[in-house]
Amino acid sequence: MAVKVFEEGDIKISIDYDKCTGIGECVTACPVDIFSVEDEKAVCKNVSECIECCACVSACPDDAIEHSSC
Ligand code: SF4
Ligand code: SF4
Repeated sequence: MAVKVFEEGDIKISIDYDKCTGIGECVTACPVDIFSVEDEKAVCKNVSECIECCACVSACPDDAIEHSSC
């Protein structure tokens, strides 16, 4: 399934779907609701609203998220 990239402007969030288990810690962690889980995988919307806090990267227990600012 490999890596899915969500990119808007200078912000690029990559999620490794081979690692993502869909438990949604990223959904809970993100203060601006970028993440949701669809079909047991994390997806990103409105990436341009990201405040680059890196909470998503820290929260993911499966090390599935790479963020261009973190
Ligand atoms: S926290 Fe990590 S493993 Fe869990 S849904 Fe988000 S990206 Fe996937
Ligand atoms: S860096 Fe912060 S604001 Fe941006 S997607 Fe991750 S948790 Fe959300």
